[in-house]
Amino acid sequence: MQQELLVTFAIVWLGLSVGSYMLFQRGSDVERKRRLWPVYTIFSNVVIGAVIVYAQPPMQMMLGLLAFMVPLTWLTIRATKFCTACGRATRVPFFMKPAEKCSHCQKPLSD
Ligand SMILES: [Zn+2]
Repeated sequence: MQQELLVTFAIVWLGLSVGSYMLFQRGSDVERKRRLWPVYTIFSNVVIGAVIVYAQPPMQMMLGLLAFMVPLTWLTIRATKFCTACGRATRVPFFMKPAEKCSHCQKPLSD
C-alpha cells in the first residue's frame, strides 16, 4: 500500500471518529441522530472496505471480508438506539438483540 493512501485513510478515520463524537455523543437532537446514524455507519464501513480493497489481499479473502461487512454494517446500525428521553446512544454488541431500555436513564426505547 502506498504511504500517502495510508495517511489519507488515517485522516479520514480520525475525521470519522471526531465526527461520531460530535454528532452522536453530544447534543440532544434525537431525530437527527437517528437519521444520520445509518448514513455514518454505512460510510465508515465503505471506508474500511476501501482500505481492504487497496490492501489487495487474495481475491477470495477480499470477497469474503467484503461479504462479511454487509450484514455486520446492518447489525451495527440495528444495535445502536437513541433515547427519546435523554438523547443518548445505547449500544449493545451487534450479535445481541437490540436494547429495550436506555442504558443511561433506563426509560424504554421506543425505536
Ligand atoms: Zn435515556
